[in-house]
Amino acid sequence: MSRHRNVRGYNYDEDFDDDDVYGQSVDDDYCISPATANQFIYSRQERQAPKEEPLEEEEDDVPMSPIISHNLDPLDQAKLYSCLDHMRTVLGDAVQDSVLTQAAVNCGFDPQKALDAVLSEDTKTVQLTKSTSEETASVARVSLEKAPLPQRIKPEAVDEKAKSRDASDDKLDSEVVPKVARMTISGKKQTMGFDVPSTGENGVAAASGRRGRSPEGATTTPSTTPSVTPSKRPETASRGSNGEEAFSVPTPSRSFGKARQSIDIKAELEKRQGGKPLLNLVVIGHVDAGKSTLMGHLLYLLGNVNKRTMHKYEQESKKAGKASFAFAWVLDETGEERDRGVTMDVGMTKFETNSKVVTLMDAPGHKDFIPNMITGAAQADVAVLVVDASRGEFEAGFEAGGQTREHALLVRSLGVTQLAVAVNKMDQVNWQQDRFKDITSKLGHFLKQAGFKESDVFYVPTSGLSGENLATRSSVSQLTSWYSGPSLLEQIDTFKAPQRSVHKPFRLCVSDVFKDQGSGFCVTGKIEAGYIQAGERILVMPPNETCTVKGITLHDEALNWAAAGDHVSLTVTGMDIIKINVGCVFCDIREPIRACTRFRARILLFNIELPITQGFPVLLHYQTVSEPATIRKLISVLHKTSGEVLKKKPKCLSKGMNAIVEIQTQRPVSLELYKDYKELGRFMLRYVGSTIAAGVVTEIKQ
Ligand code: GDP
Repeated sequence: MSRHRNVRGYNYDEDFDDDDVYGQSVDDDYCISPATANQFIYSRQERQAPKEEPLEEEEDDVPMSPIISHNLDPLDQAKLYSCLDHMRTVLGDAVQDSVLTQAAVNCGFDPQKALDAVLSEDTKTVQLTKSTSEETASVARVSLEKAPLPQRIKPEAVDEKAKSRDASDDKLDSEVVPKVARMTISGKKQTMGFDVPSTGENGVAAASGRRGRSPEGATTTPSTTPSVTPSKRPETASRGSNGEEAFSVPTPSRSFGKARQSIDIKAELEKRQGGKPLLNLVVIGHVDAGKSTLMGHLLYLLGNVNKRTMHKYEQESKKAGKASFAFAWVLDETGEERDRGVTMDVGMTKFETNSKVVTLMDAPGHKDFIPNMITGAAQADVAVLVVDASRGEFEAGFEAGGQTREHALLVRSLGVTQLAVAVNKMDQVNWQQDRFKDITSKLGHFLKQAGFKESDVFYVPTSGLSGENLATRSSVSQLTSWYSGPSLLEQIDTFKAPQRSVHKPFRLCVSDVFKDQGSGFCVTGKIEAGYIQAGERILVMPPNETCTVKGITLHDEALNWAAAGDHVSLTVTGMDIIKINVGCVFCDIREPIRACTRFRARILLFNIELPITQGFPVLLHYQTVSEPATIRKLISVLHKTSGEVLKKKPKCLSKGMNAIVEIQTQRPVSLELYKDYKELGRFMLRYVGSTIAAGVVTEIKQ
């Protein structure tokens, strides 16, 4: 079966080189055949990781906490952390650490036994009061506030992290309620993501507070509320009533501003990167699989987090009753962000392997934050999928409703082809080879269905908590007796770096807009294609107006130019800030992007429950854009593998179908044909918190 028959009218050749190994089997369970998937997913050729400043290095050598320096081997230390966490979830800070630690050690790190031991001892000294009906719901908060929490509660039921992520469950009833993408470049770390709208008392979603493409006309959500992070961008403006503003095609008589100096952009880039190619890496996986812990620990082992900072995280996480989250906090945002628990951004930071500079994006695992995950994954070249090897946990993440499958499918649909699977928490299953084999075979089958080549997927047994097999190969005999493969870092080092579209016309998708101290204002975003020089005049679509780029900043460093792959901040003059929004595209005046409210696309429907009919409301999602839309017309149903038209003007579309549809957005969006610019020509459709389809733009209607 040739994929060329599947992709009528498009030229996917460059994207699907060597992809012929897919397309052998179809499993309706996944609603996607490899061949079908191949029409939507591609090899990322032209990407570059943004440059990041490394975390601040300090020389101070502060001793680690007593727990870290406890005389235990790494495996036992991991068990101890885990056990202490369970105990603190129930007891808060009511009992001294030393007592908890002793009990944990005495009881062989069995949390239930250790709790029994402590509680039976403590009934003499600790006043235990009756639990209230709110107990389960608020246990995390209670432990944070150090209030005594006497009654035993199932630890799994009260995971604080899950709670904080769950806090917005109700608020996200419909993802058609707009959210705003943002990426903030602030000092050492960047974050990007979507605000989760806070819910008012009446359950109506309140304004997210950040500027963006909210459909004011259609929802109750005004976008003029001041930013919730005013310190960073005090004078951000909003599209406001411009939501429905008219736009026109670019007029040809534009001034092109300062002439471009001719530079050999490829050579300049190589010079700038010191010969090491950049790699954008996104970490994905089900909530609590251990993503943040694993990557935080890796950064620590690589020396990107100094001991003093680590010590601080330990203390803070311990105070919060979550000592085992210390490493996870390396990638978490500020304390305020942690406490709010409503904005789950994609944390970004940087590390180096032998041959690559890697920008790491830690995606939230909870299903409510999949929009953020999409934003992160859309910018990634490769992915690390973290799965929890513990009995029952892998299964929970893998079955329907778990995020393992959805994340894997999403990243593949978004163009990621190379994947390292960290089979994590192997310490919990005594590094059993059988368990590892069981997991890799189940995953392998699924990943093949999802369109990953077997030769591009690598499995590494790890323990994020004890640090085994992360930066260096493990020496745990239970593991080395059957595994002699690379550590996770070595594996990441072997990933192939992508090519970047530096020679295409300039495109930058705006992820944030804010007023700075100077005369103009700033926009941040990732350059998707081409390059930009300071002084150039560029076009903004929509609203189809021009402005001048006065300055370019990359990680607080002023530059004369920046190119595809760079996350930059541009200082802009000659245009009203009110007209620029998250999701606008800055582009080359000579070869502008088009804006439209209607376009045709080929979509692949995932495992949806409701059939899709004409007028079906969706949230269109690509890059930093998140725009309410409707399926305006159902044009045709296509054969999954041959791409032949099976039915014209179908009444409805159901799961697993391949179809051509016409999509109508509420406001103009800037898109490209998939065949011209992959990054700006593919999208996701979401409905009520689930991703229902992936698609590629085939025709832009005026
Ligand atoms: P995330 O939601 O995927 O980012 O997961 P976290 O990194 O927040 O970890 C969730 C919980 O799993 C925390 O309590 C971690 O301490 C624990 N954890 C993470 N990795 C390991 C591991 O390798 N072994 C054990 N035993 N626990 C782990």
